Amino acid sequence: AWANTPPSRPEQGAVLVVMAAAATAAQVDRAGDVLAGGHPERVRRFEHRGRVALATVDPAGSADPAALEDLPGVDRVVLGPSYLLASRAWRPEPTIVTLPGGIAIGGADLVLVAGPCAVEDERQLLRTAHRVAAAGASLLRGGAFKPRSSPYAFQGLGTEGLELLDRARRETGLRLVTEAMDERTVEAVASVADLIQVGSRNMTNYPLLRRAAATGKPVLLKRGMASTLDELLLAAEYLLAEGNPQVVLCERGIRGFDGSTRNVLDLTAIPLLHRLSHLPVIADPSHGTGHRDLVGPMARAAVAAGADGVMLEVHPDPEAARSDGPQSLTFDGFDALVGELRSVAEAVGRRLPAPLARVAP
Ligand code: PEP
Ligand code: MN
Repeated sequence: AWANTPPSRPEQGAVLVVMAAAATAAQVDRAGDVLAGGHPERVRRFEHRGRVALATVDPAGSADPAALEDLPGVDRVVLGPSYLLASRAWRPEPTIVTLPGGIAIGGADLVLVAGPCAVEDERQLLRTAHRVAAAGASLLRGGAFKPRSSPYAFQGLGTEGLELLDRARRETGLRLVTEAMDERTVEAVASVADLIQVGSRNMTNYPLLRRAAATGKPVLLKRGMASTLDELLLAAEYLLAEGNPQVVLCERGIRGFDGSTRNVLDLTAIPLLHRLSHLPVIADPSHGTGHRDLVGPMARAAVAAGADGVMLEVHPDPEAARSDGPQSLTFDGFDALVGELRSVAEAVGRRLPAPLARVAP
């Protein structure tokens, strides 16, 4: 199936025509004409490995799906969510996002992303970086630009934070993921980050998505806290449609009715996203739970559910953290969890790479 969306939701407005691999150019043109219904500007054409798909997302009303389906060379017609490039139907083989230093996200090896919520100072960041690298992390996280609920809360160190991240990378060989919060600073973030994070609050900031993708750096797209999987995949589609295929999805919990956790980590999203999309999926049980003692169980569960990696907040002194202390692991807690994740990974046919003597760049 194209997606889980039944064709009874035409209000979503997309008509997607996937041509058979053997379709001729004339058959593609003919299907395009029928789909366009006199509005050729509404049709987008995509190609992947010699296959063509045609999509129109602008008033879908005019094209008759049954008529389209009967045209020669048409493999199938789907009404529904208009993501195409992000879909598994379009690209059956998994996307593997590669970062410098031989890091591959979406292959057999899991990726371990760890670090503080926010870059606070040199000592905090470097101590954490060395410690998580020694335990087997391959990516260091840490916000320099922080989207805080309160305007009075610590907003991050900004460009100074980026410099500290760069220093931590040089010292440890860890690669960096850090958040770009707005269009104004996305270039500065891209100049340092190996993977640009677009946070939950910005998942539907479409101009930012376009700008982040246009930097050419891989993008980590976090699910909006009240976003459906269709919406997440459509946000990913913005990145892909900008010509950047290096996209990693992140399940970080959604709003629930029960205040006992900060968010509800949607574990089902992991296998479902893998079914719907070829993009790698990682899980963030730190924001997904909000409580240190729930992070380990949910990290193990995420790996068991098929996540391609986990992102964990770690702090040298969580009690003193300037943001998200209650969900941050201590160094010892992190070490212990990594050992557990190794066993779970092995049980599901994955591997957590051993901490290597990484070659610093
Ligand atoms: C973060 O990972 O630093 C963060 C702010 O998370 P989210 O966007 O998921 O809330
Ligand atoms: Mn945080």
